[in-house]
Amino acid sequence: MTTRTVISPQGYHTGKCGYCGSTLAAPPKPPKADEKAARDEDGNLKGSETLVDDDDVLKAIEPDGNQSYYVSASTLSVEDYQKLLDRGWRRSGKLLYKQNRKASCCPHYTIRLEASKFETKRDHRSTLNRWNKFVLGEEYVKQVARDAAKDKELAKKRHAEKLATRNATRELEIAKKAARDAGLKEPSSLPPKLTGDELEKMVHACEYSTLKTPPEPAHKFEITLEPSNFTEEKFLLFRKYQVEIHHEKPSKQTHESFKRFLCESPLPQTTGKTAADYGRKYGSFHQLYRLDGRLIAMAVLDLLPNCVSSVYFLYDTEFHKYSMGKLSACREIVLAREGGYKYYYLGYYIHRNKKMEYKANFPPSELLDPESNVFHPMEHFVPADKSFTGLNKYRYFSYDEPTESCRDCDPEDPGVEKDPYEHRKTALSGYDGRFHHLWDRRMPGITPLEDMRQMPLGDIHIRVGNVNAVANQLRGFDMANIEEENSIVRHMGEMAAVMGPDVVMDAVVEL
Ligand SMILES: [Zn+2]
Repeated sequence: MTTRTVISPQGYHTGKCGYCGSTLAAPPKPPKADEKAARDEDGNLKGSETLVDDDDVLKAIEPDGNQSYYVSASTLSVEDYQKLLDRGWRRSGKLLYKQNRKASCCPHYTIRLEASKFETKRDHRSTLNRWNKFVLGEEYVKQVARDAAKDKELAKKRHAEKLATRNATRELEIAKKAARDAGLKEPSSLPPKLTGDELEKMVHACEYSTLKTPPEPAHKFEITLEPSNFTEEKFLLFRKYQVEIHHEKPSKQTHESFKRFLCESPLPQTTGKTAADYGRKYGSFHQLYRLDGRLIAMAVLDLLPNCVSSVYFLYDTEFHKYSMGKLSACREIVLAREGGYKYYYLGYYIHRNKKMEYKANFPPSELLDPESNVFHPMEHFVPADKSFTGLNKYRYFSYDEPTESCRDCDPEDPGVEKDPYEHRKTALSGYDGRFHHLWDRRMPGITPLEDMRQMPLGDIHIRVGNVNAVANQLRGFDMANIEEENSIVRHMGEMAAVMGPDVVMDAVVEL
């Protein structure tokens, strides 16, 4: 690895949830000594009412708002970012974050699928067909069909296709008989399947560079992939999209905000050097969609050792009816397959969020378990039969640690049988109303405090201004304790626990 990751801890923050709008009530502060001794006008001690009661403590850790741990990265190797994705992290520009799923109202689940195993549905096929028809135009399609009909080779192929259809009819009969024998409902049709090659053909079918011309298609559609640099044209598309789709104020969409969000990246542009990935592109890219020369859509993508990761997708709202999001996902899966990237990461999946539903429609997808950081099939979290289990039952669900799952707590709702916060109360014996360190917050998927105590945090490489050193050279570092509030040891230890000790021990930490 030639690139060394350079990071700086930004700490744990709570804020408004961008999905449901919930905010977190500030955690109760412990009474100060002088407040404890405060007296009322009659001179009586007010002591008892300033003590933090159990209800307040519980309120402070009840899921509400968005709670995340942040790190800024000036440089991040693609290998390290791959590790972070697989630990539930994401990036926005140069800011990296991992949500505390257990304590946030809308838990974010990392979702991915193995690109070669993607099973298209009829829906994907009709979306691709509709777009191809629009781009190519009726005239072009007819002319090409006329030309092709003359082709003898094609006639042979047609014959083979007919045979295949006949085989499909036979397969359906077999499936029906099997269902009858098993006492199950007979299928009315076999699920439509597109083989890998067919999906690739459909995705590329409308690209000008692949067309046989003349005749000329109705529109000239071009796709290019370039480093995530700023251009005014991209910015104008972004502003239109944010205003029209996300109803944001035009005045808030500045060059700077666009650059920070979708152009800047800590990932260096590199190419694969090993036999297995020679020449493969890595880094942050913009995939541009041009129609008759005009920029109509743009995908922001991270190309990493094990995946194509979708960062963002924006398009001209004029083309909204063509389901651009779905088209782009199909195109990105094809990019992953053709480029040799094993997985396609669709970002985060939030259950019960309408805008995220389409992400569940790219089988066979997997979700990252928030407790164990292991990927499991989507069905383990969201049962295909819609039964009242997994995320259908729990707001926060872990397949590997099911006892950690929590339901929404509503004492007024008779549908909720049991206090879902029972385990938290137990965990909080001796809790004084403050979060002394990250482990107090019971953030899932981080390295346990016991393990962090064993970690040689003093060996971490640090940079202060222009000076390179190791943490142990900082005054008092070896004397401080990982649990000590505001100590540098604690900041380092927390960051290593959330990012993974292997990433932080190899990085340079800027202070
Ligand atoms: Zn929310």
